[in-house]
Amino acid sequence: MSHDRELRFEDVLRYAAQHELEHGGGALAPPPERAYVRPPGIARRDAPPPPEPEVGPTLLDKPVDRRGALGLLFGATALATQVAGACTPASGATDAEREAKILEWEEYFKGNFRLMTAEEKTATVRRLERLSKLKRGMDVHIATTEAQPGVLFGYAFNISKCKGYRNCVQACVNENNLDRASATQYIRIFEMEDGVVDLEHGDATYQHEVPAEGHFYLGTQCFQCANPPCVAVCPVRATWQEPDGIVVVDYDWCIGCRYCMAACPYWARRFNWAAPEVPAEELNPNQHYLGNRPRKKGVVEKCTFCIQRSREGRLPACAEACPTGARVFGNLLDPNSAIRWVLANKRVFRLKEELSTEPRFWYFTD
Ligand code: SF4
Ligand code: SF4
Repeated sequence: MSHDRELRFEDVLRYAAQHELEHGGGALAPPPERAYVRPPGIARRDAPPPPEPEVGPTLLDKPVDRRGALGLLFGATALATQVAGACTPASGATDAEREAKILEWEEYFKGNFRLMTAEEKTATVRRLERLSKLKRGMDVHIATTEAQPGVLFGYAFNISKCKGYRNCVQACVNENNLDRASATQYIRIFEMEDGVVDLEHGDATYQHEVPAEGHFYLGTQCFQCANPPCVAVCPVRATWQEPDGIVVVDYDWCIGCRYCMAACPYWARRFNWAAPEVPAEELNPNQHYLGNRPRKKGVVEKCTFCIQRSREGRLPACAEACPTGARVFGNLLDPNSAIRWVLANKRVFRLKEELSTEPRFWYFTD
C-alpha cells in the first residue's frame, strides 16, 4: 500500500454509493472512471432482469431492507469522507494515519469470511495485522487455520473434581482477549447445593472461599451444539458451525441484532455494548480470525473451544489451566482420545437434553 496514494473525494463518495447499492459489500475493485449512482429501488423500466450473481462475498447472504441499505450507505459515506479527508495533502495526517484509513476503507468492503477465497482471507488478515501495528503498535499473528479432516471436538466436565477455583475463567479471559472494562467472561462456574443440578438456583457470582461445605460446582460455556439454534436464527449468516463442530462468528459480518443470544438456551453468547478494552501489555498476539482477534462495539462473541489453540493441536486454555483435572477435551472421532474414554466409561449427561440441541459438552462424576 503506497503511503502517498491519493483519493479524490468525489470518486470515493460516488464509488462507495455505487458499490453499496449494487454489490452490498463485496471485495473492493478499482473505482471506475465515471460511476453512475442509481437511486435505491429504482431500475430502468426497459432493463432486463439482473443476472443471478455468482456466490461470493456480497450481500447475497445478508438480506438488507431499505433501512439497512441506508445504514450501510451512510457508514460507507462517513468512512469515505474520512479516507478522502486523510488522503488530501492539506489534511496534516501522517503516513501511518493515511495508510490506516485506506486499510480501514478496504476492510469495510470485504465479504463474509465463510465465502472468501484463500487469497481474500490472506489479504484481510494482512490488513488486520498491519492495522494492529499502525493503530496499537502491536505485532499480532492472525491465523486462518481451517478445521482438520477427521476431527470433531468434544468436551467433558467432571463435577466431582471441580472445586470452584475459577482458574479456567481467568485463563479464558487472558487467552481470548475478553473485554476488561465490562469483565466479560465466557465461562461461568455455578455453585449449587449437593444433590440437585439446578442452574436457575445456582450461584455463579459467589465470592467466598471454595469449596463450600455441602456444595458442588458446574461450569458452563458455549457447548458447540450439534444442532445449534443460535445459528438457525442469524438473519445474515454471520454465525455458523465449522466441520470440526466449532460454532463461530464472523465479527465483521455480525449486525448485532442479538437474535442468537435469545435463541441460545445456555446463555453462552456475549454482546459488546462498547468497544472491548484489553491493555496492550495483556493482549494475546496469537489470534485466529474466527476466535480471539479483537472484537468491536456492537457485535456478538462466544467461546470457540479456543479455536486458535485447538486447531493447532493444543488444549483450550480452560482445560490447560484447571488444577484438578476436571476438564477433558479431545477429538470425538479418535477412539483412543480421553473424551471417548469418558463417554464410554462414565455415566454422562448434558444440560437441557429435551431441547435436542445436542451439546458436544457432557458432565460426569467419578
Ligand atoms: Fe449456540 Fe448456545 Fe449451543 Fe453455543 S451453547 S452452540 S451459543 S446454542
Ligand atoms: Fe447473527 Fe447473532 Fe450477529 Fe445477530 S447478533 S447478526 S444473530 S451473530
